[in-house]
Amino acid sequence: MNVQEIRKDFPILEETVNGHPLVYLDSAATSQKPRQVIEVLQKYYEHDNSNVHRGVHTLGSRATEAYELAREKVARFIRAKSAEQVVFTRGTTESLNMVAYGYARQQLKEGDEIVLTPSEHHSNLIPWQQVARTTGAVLKYIPLQPDGTLAMEDVKTAITPATKLVAMAHVSNVLGTIHPVREIAALAHEVGAIMVVDGAQSVPHMPVDVQDLGCDFLAFSGHKMCGPTGVGVLYGKRELLDVMEPTYFGGEMIDIVELHSATWKDTPYKFEGGTPIIAGAIGLGAAVDYLSSIGMEEIRSHDQKLVAYALERLSDMPGLSIYGPKSGVNRGGLVTFNLDGVHPHDVSTVLDAEGIAIRAGHHCAQPLMRWLNVGSTARASFYLYNTESDIDALFHGLQSAKEFFQHAIG
Ligand code: PMP
Repeated sequence: MNVQEIRKDFPILEETVNGHPLVYLDSAATSQKPRQVIEVLQKYYEHDNSNVHRGVHTLGSRATEAYELAREKVARFIRAKSAEQVVFTRGTTESLNMVAYGYARQQLKEGDEIVLTPSEHHSNLIPWQQVARTTGAVLKYIPLQPDGTLAMEDVKTAITPATKLVAMAHVSNVLGTIHPVREIAALAHEVGAIMVVDGAQSVPHMPVDVQDLGCDFLAFSGHKMCGPTGVGVLYGKRELLDVMEPTYFGGEMIDIVELHSATWKDTPYKFEGGTPIIAGAIGLGAAVDYLSSIGMEEIRSHDQKLVAYALERLSDMPGLSIYGPKSGVNRGGLVTFNLDGVHPHDVSTVLDAEGIAIRAGHHCAQPLMRWLNVGSTARASFYLYNTESDIDALFHGLQSAKEFFQHAIG
């Protein structure tokens, strides 16, 4: 993998920010987009733009073909058995809400248990709270180990015959922990429960094979994997998608409409009411082509190298606390930290003055912040276009931030 060549694909990396070359360390929030994706979007709008599945004119057929080809590309990328198991959504949040609304709310009843972890992103937490509120199901949390990982004995204790659904992130967006979702899916299946995986931070960064993982649903976002914003995916096992209710009702998702009733199309179209996310899906297809041309194994090992280097460089810095596993081996490409006595927003502001973009805040994981006993944290996250020199820049930026605030505090 030639990172210097890859960097040339990303026009935004030529930006200067506050007089410094941009050092973009916020890909867990959203990734940058390569020329190959931007050009496909431009070409679509310049040459093929039309609504899909409706007209019988030439542009309509071209747009429909491109949209359905994108579905096939995504299916191959995650090794789904068939393209019909890929539903285009607005992103991870919408995908998870659709499962909560259309599947869990219909299938769960009072006393059923939903097993989660306390480190979930709000979008893999609040939908299940809502399911619990409306069905009487109960939320159960697998405790975290001090480094944010899960102990299999705790997972085994949490999953019982009352469990109907287990939901967790494949990779935590705060701690970087990679959860053993294949093993946990097997435990869920032993008791007849389904396994919902939030793949927002895994699908962009490592090979993900839904058949190998055995997950029942997988949700992810295009914008974190070099694709456009506004598009994401819900993958589901066919038999579950078939019983799952649509969330949105209207044009395109119907079969026959009477004055007092209607029937739906088959999966996946029954979930894509209204004009679908045509350009977004085509752009995501281009992103999948781009990532595949580099190779997900290569991207994963590049992330691993960067995170190991970042942990090595940052762990010696006095006054810097790093959260999550201390080794880069079984960890996603991000490092979350706090600088003693300095608010993460201030850390981020000082870094921004040097052209370095990181994320500061609660990362949509307030219960996890409480577990860490902090209000918020800073997070640097890496992707295929980052280099060790970006991490050196972060290290020097953090040193400047420390000095600046030590002087300011006096
Ligand atoms: N889950 C995880 C683990 C995430 O990191 C994110 C994005 N920060 C989401 C869910 C939500 O993704 P989106 O905002 O694209 O719907």
